[in-house]
Amino acid sequence: MTENKFGKPQMEGIMYCVRCCIPSTQELVKFDEMGICQACQSSEQKIHINWVEKEKELRKILEEAKSKAGNNYDCIVPISGGKDSTFQLYVLTQVYGMKPLAVTFSHNWFSETGWYNLLNSLEKFNVDHIMFTPNRDLVNRIAKRSLEAIGDTCWHCHAGVGAFPLQAAIRFNIPLLIYGESIAESSGRSTYKNPLMEFNLDYFMKVSTKRNPKEMVCDYISEKDMKPFFFPSIEELDKAGVRLMHLGDYIFWDDERQMEFVRDNFGWKETEVEGTYKGYKSAECIMPGMHDFTNYLKRGFGRATHQASVDVRNGLLSREEGFELANKYDNEIPESLEYYLKVTGMTKEEFYKMMMEKRLPEIKHIDLPVVEKTRKNKERILPYPEQLIEREENKKNNG
Ligand SMILES: [Zn+2]
Repeated sequence: MTENKFGKPQMEGIMYCVRCCIPSTQELVKFDEMGICQACQSSEQKIHINWVEKEKELRKILEEAKSKAGNNYDCIVPISGGKDSTFQLYVLTQVYGMKPLAVTFSHNWFSETGWYNLLNSLEKFNVDHIMFTPNRDLVNRIAKRSLEAIGDTCWHCHAGVGAFPLQAAIRFNIPLLIYGESIAESSGRSTYKNPLMEFNLDYFMKVSTKRNPKEMVCDYISEKDMKPFFFPSIEELDKAGVRLMHLGDYIFWDDERQMEFVRDNFGWKETEVEGTYKGYKSAECIMPGMHDFTNYLKRGFGRATHQASVDVRNGLLSREEGFELANKYDNEIPESLEYYLKVTGMTKEEFYKMMMEKRLPEIKHIDLPVVEKTRKNKERILPYPEQLIEREENKKNNG
C-alpha cells in the first residue's frame, strides 16, 4: 500500500509525454515518434524563432489596421480581466498606440479579485469597453446542462467567450480581433511551426460545432435562452472580413514574467486558484476548481498537471517534481463543488455518477482517488455580485 510513488504519474499503464507530465488522455494531444507532446515541441521551436522579425510583422499588421480603421476603433481586444488581458491592453495601447475596443463576455462567475483586475485594467489604460452578462438563472441552468453535455461545468463560458467578440466585430464593424497567448503555447492543439493561424473555415467549424447552442436545448433550456451563444455565420464573418490573431505569435510569450510585469507596474492582483499551486491563471473566476476537477475525473489529470508541465518545459521543475505537484493538487475536491451543487440542485452522488459516465473508456478501470480539501480557499467562492448583495444585507441586519 505504502510503496514509494515519489515522482510517479497518477495513472499506471497510461502513456505520458516523456518530457513533461501530460498524459495521452488530454484532448487532441499528439506525440511525435519519440513520445514528446506538441506543447513540448512547441516550446523548443519557440526558442529558435526570430522574434525580432516577428515583431516587425506585428508592427506592420497593426499600422495597416490603424490606417484602415480611420475614425473607427483599430481592433477588438477580448478581455477577461486575467493577466493576459491586462498585458494585451498594455502592449496595444502603450507600445503600439492602438485604439482598441475591449469586449468581455462575462461568465458571471467573477471572483472579487477578478472584478477588481478587470476594472483596474480599464482604468489604467483608458480603453472603451463593452460587456455581455448572461443572467444568473440562465448561468445556473446551463451549468447543470453543461455537465451532461460536455462533461465540465463551463459550456456557457467556452461558447460565449468564442461567440461574443465575433458578434461585436460584426456589430461595430471592427474586423481585427487580437487575442493574447498563442494557441501553440500550451493548448497542445498546434505548434509554432504548424500554427492554426488567422481565421479559417475549418477551425471555425471545429470550434463552433463543438459548442453548438442548439444541442444544449433541453426541457429546462429553450432555443431563445441560447441567443447569446450563437456564432455569426461564415458568410457574415467573410463579408465583414473578420480576422483573428494572437500577440503570442509575434512576441515572445512568457506567462510568469508578464504576470510579474502587470502586477508590479499596473496593480494586477494574484489570488488563490483551486486545484493548483499557482494563483495567476483564471484568477478572474470562482469556478476553475470545478472545471479542472471534472477534467481530473474524466481524464485523470487537472490544472496542476498543466501548470507543472509548463514549469518543466521552462526548466523550473524536474518531471518528477511536476508529478508530485500534480498528485498533490489534481485530486483535491474543490470548495466550488458545494456552490455548483447548490445552484444546480444536483446531489453529490449524482455528480460523481455523471462524472463516472464521462470518464474516458481507456481509464475507466483506473482508480482515481479524491481527497477532501482541508484549508479554506483564500478567495471567496461566490460570484462577486452575490457577495455585494450579501454584504449589504448583513449591514442592514446588523445595523
Ligand atoms: Zn510534453
